[in-house]
Amino acid sequence: PYVQSFEVIERPEVTYNDIGGLKEQIRELREVVELPLKNPDLFREVGIEPPKGVLLYGPPGCGKTLLAKAVAREAEAAFISIVGSELVQKFIGEGARIVKEVFSMARKKAPAIVFIDEIDAIAAKRIDIGTSGEREVQRTLMQLLAEIDGFRPLDRVKVIAATNRIDVLDPAILRPGRLDRLIEIPLPDKQGRYEIFKVHTRRMKLADDVDLHELASKTEGLSGAEIKAIVTEAGYNAIRSGRKFVTREDFELAVKKIAAKKNVRRGIVE
Ligand code: ATP
Repeated sequence: PYVQSFEVIERPEVTYNDIGGLKEQIRELREVVELPLKNPDLFREVGIEPPKGVLLYGPPGCGKTLLAKAVAREAEAAFISIVGSELVQKFIGEGARIVKEVFSMARKKAPAIVFIDEIDAIAAKRIDIGTSGEREVQRTLMQLLAEIDGFRPLDRVKVIAATNRIDVLDPAILRPGRLDRLIEIPLPDKQGRYEIFKVHTRRMKLADDVDLHELASKTEGLSGAEIKAIVTEAGYNAIRSGRKFVTREDFELAVKKIAAKKNVRRGIVE
């Protein structure tokens, strides 16, 4: 069967309104990615070069992919994405070719954003490149660097890469003219968690006793993806009770369940 090695979305559904918190990160992405794609002439007139690419880094499930899609939508750019770990594990021997195809597609579809998730899988610093697998990963990285070096800052292609492991990245990828703008996407703070609850309960009927501020206080340390899981679980609790509206108790049970799962994953089983 044919397995897709990259994904192309002509017009992503996600908007900035679907993102809770991350206001400063959105502002920065608009300035360094959206604006130059929409208005390269402005940069020519002022005489500055925007970055060709940015790196989003931070813990899993906090909105990196969401942000990249929203920027593509607002810039009216095509969204072309690849996953670093898949290039290494699923498409063995084809990494360099896929990278080449992705950028050729991006030039054709420009304005376009190339999103590289889990870039650490192809751009980790290596102590030795002895095995053939490592040489293959190295070839994929060389191809990526060549592609980034091969377009100009005002060509209507931008790279957004994402990683949870910025510490392992090969500095070559972060050099000036490459992914030289780093934007941290941290775990949400209390206000951020409140806004993420708001986004995901938008289409929900909430009972009067539900207090999203209180839920935000009780979910310290959780990611946006985990908050979404809590909202979904709370909805299931309502369905199990034969209700179409969601109560405080539905949420409380959901918080316990998701927090417990997280502790199991971390190996802190009590
Ligand atoms: P990963 O490193 O696991 O790829 P990521 O940072 O790219 O994580 P996303 O894929 O953007 O995370 O988030 C996963 C899901 O969690 C999103 O589809 C969304 O439903 C929810 N989510 C995460 N962060 C936010 C946020 N800031 N606002 C609203 N929803 C969020």
